[in-house]
Amino acid sequence: MIKYCHECGTEIKEGAKFCKNCGTSIVKDLKEESNKREIKEEKQSFESSHHKYEIEKQRNQIYQWIAIAIILLVLGVLFFWAYDRYEEKQKENEIVGGINKALTDWGFTASKTNSLNNSDAILSRNYFTF
Ligand SMILES: [Zn+2]
Repeated sequence: MIKYCHECGTEIKEGAKFCKNCGTSIVKDLKEESNKREIKEEKQSFESSHHKYEIEKQRNQIYQWIAIAIILLVLGVLFFWAYDRYEEKQKENEIVGGINKALTDWGFTASKTNSLNNSDAILSRNYFTF
């Protein structure tokens, strides 16, 4: 059986430990490959002799998909709920911000101007004349 390097696809000579083209170690890969193949063969023989198991596996897969669908649905609902709340909060902030801005425009900033430098004095005067 001719083997090929899994990295570069170069043909590997029988018994070679490294790919002559790219130097990839072959021994380890061959071992892994044969291990994988053994596991696969075991699995295949197990599955073919256990048709019932196969059916159960398919059913489990369907259950898995249903579970995933439910999770996605819940996440979707949560997301929209959170977004709705976020939008409401945004509107609230806009309203509060608007009120604050209106108050500031009308000179209601006295609580922030406790120190007595010139600009504060002017602000205070504005406040009192208002
Ligand atoms: Zn190679």
